[in-house]
Amino acid sequence: MKAHDGMYIDGAWRPAVGADTIEVVNPVDEQVIGRVPAGTAEDVDIAVRAARAALPGWAATPPAERAARLTALRDVLVARKDEIAETVTAELGAPLPFSQMVHAGVPIAVAGSYAELAATHAFEEKVGNSTVYQEPVGVVGAITPWNYPLHQIVAKVAPALAAGCTVVLKPAEDTPLTAQLFAEAVAEAGVPAGVFNLVTGLGPVAGQALAEHPNVDLVSFTGSTAVGKRIGATAGAAIKRVALELGGKSANVVLPSADLAKAVSVGVANVMSNSGQTCSAWTRMLVHTARYDEAVELAAAAAAKYGDRIGPVVNAKQQARVRGYIEKGVAEGARIVAGGPESPRDQGYFVSPTVFADVTPDMTIAQEEIFGPVLSIIRYEDEADALRIANGTVYGLAGAVWAGDEAEAIAFARRLDTGQVDINGGRFNPVAPFGGYKQSGVGRELGSHGLSEYLQTKSLQF
Ligand code: NAP
Ligand code: MG
Repeated sequence: MKAHDGMYIDGAWRPAVGADTIEVVNPVDEQVIGRVPAGTAEDVDIAVRAARAALPGWAATPPAERAARLTALRDVLVARKDEIAETVTAELGAPLPFSQMVHAGVPIAVAGSYAELAATHAFEEKVGNSTVYQEPVGVVGAITPWNYPLHQIVAKVAPALAAGCTVVLKPAEDTPLTAQLFAEAVAEAGVPAGVFNLVTGLGPVAGQALAEHPNVDLVSFTGSTAVGKRIGATAGAAIKRVALELGGKSANVVLPSADLAKAVSVGVANVMSNSGQTCSAWTRMLVHTARYDEAVELAAAAAAKYGDRIGPVVNAKQQARVRGYIEKGVAEGARIVAGGPESPRDQGYFVSPTVFADVTPDMTIAQEEIFGPVLSIIRYEDEADALRIANGTVYGLAGAVWAGDEAEAIAFARRLDTGQVDINGGRFNPVAPFGGYKQSGVGRELGSHGLSEYLQTKSLQF
């Protein structure tokens, strides 16, 4: 798509207050593919005013009509699926088939789920002698990352609109074209002016202004834990609602009774998918000592098969960061069995699919979120040891458990301090609550739990 040189505010593309722009770069060939305005606090303020003005009308719009707009939005996303996939591929670098299936496909499912929820959710219930109304929280400031550029936007905007909230979105600076395409889709879907507004810009400028804006009632942020902590502190000081989807360092626990070949192949695919830029990726594989060597061999072979099929990481900074982690792993005594720190190509921000063996739980690569195609395989002695290692990070976003018997896997999963666990390769569910325990975040996205984040209750007693 062609970049807009304005921001989508109050139902129209309008010029930014300042003249600064952000260059959008294709991470495959490092070419500039577009420029978008770098919004300032003034642009954010104009957008928040538009969202505030539109709030009473949208909040009073019957849920069935909000559902109709969300259905229309889903239909536009379906109609423009190829363009969405091509845009994500151009600015994120994901291989086109993955963009089609996941980057374009998942947001369609999520938008559809909120069209349905808006129509069916009980916004009113009787509790004893009270009627409890679920009302929109108000103006939402949504701040999103680049890793799943459209999904991260839809997972916030769709439930917000379903709830009757209005939104100002500040998308990641690396993937603003997808956000502009989404704004076009919102307009095409007939969502009234001011209900959804887009301000492109830099995090510490436009993002911070949005998080600090006194007329924003709820800040919903997805991204790094470092920025999330600041946003949480700012929101706390203002007694403002906040939802934080932060980092992860999830464990893939392969219990001794598991189908090892399947657990390893699905586990490697999970980490390499989207070039490792998935907050819920199972970046630590935990294998019993008796089957450790076999697992390492299988994982190394599986990673080597990826070779050139993997896309680049998003930018030069992430590439340097990921390679720095790989070097740190070597320096701390882990053993590379696939990949390594050298870039596999002369051009583009590529990182080789990398697998580390002999990783101990206290190593940096076993504790910190790398956000690249890097898997650490850790040995455990018994189940108690596996549990201690799995729960032994500050994060708790996701995970996996594999066992010969489903009940055994469930019993182990119930003891994990984490928000989502896939049992024996369980499929992604777009309406299951997604979010973190511990420092992986506050709040939940997707499904009815995601909708609740945008609602507040009022009780009338009779
Ligand atoms: P980030 O800086 O936290 O970015 C997330 C969003 O917050 C972006 O829109 C960003 O804008 C914005 N932002 C940055 N600083 C801000 C501030 N002071 N106030 C308000 N908003 C601000 O994350 P990143 O730099 O893209 O990636 C760094 C690391 O974050 C990754 O390596 C990974 O560990 C983690 N991450 C996690 C997720 C996840 O889904 N949990 C997703 C992406 C990244 P800019 O785009 O302009 O920076
Ligand atoms: Mg950043």
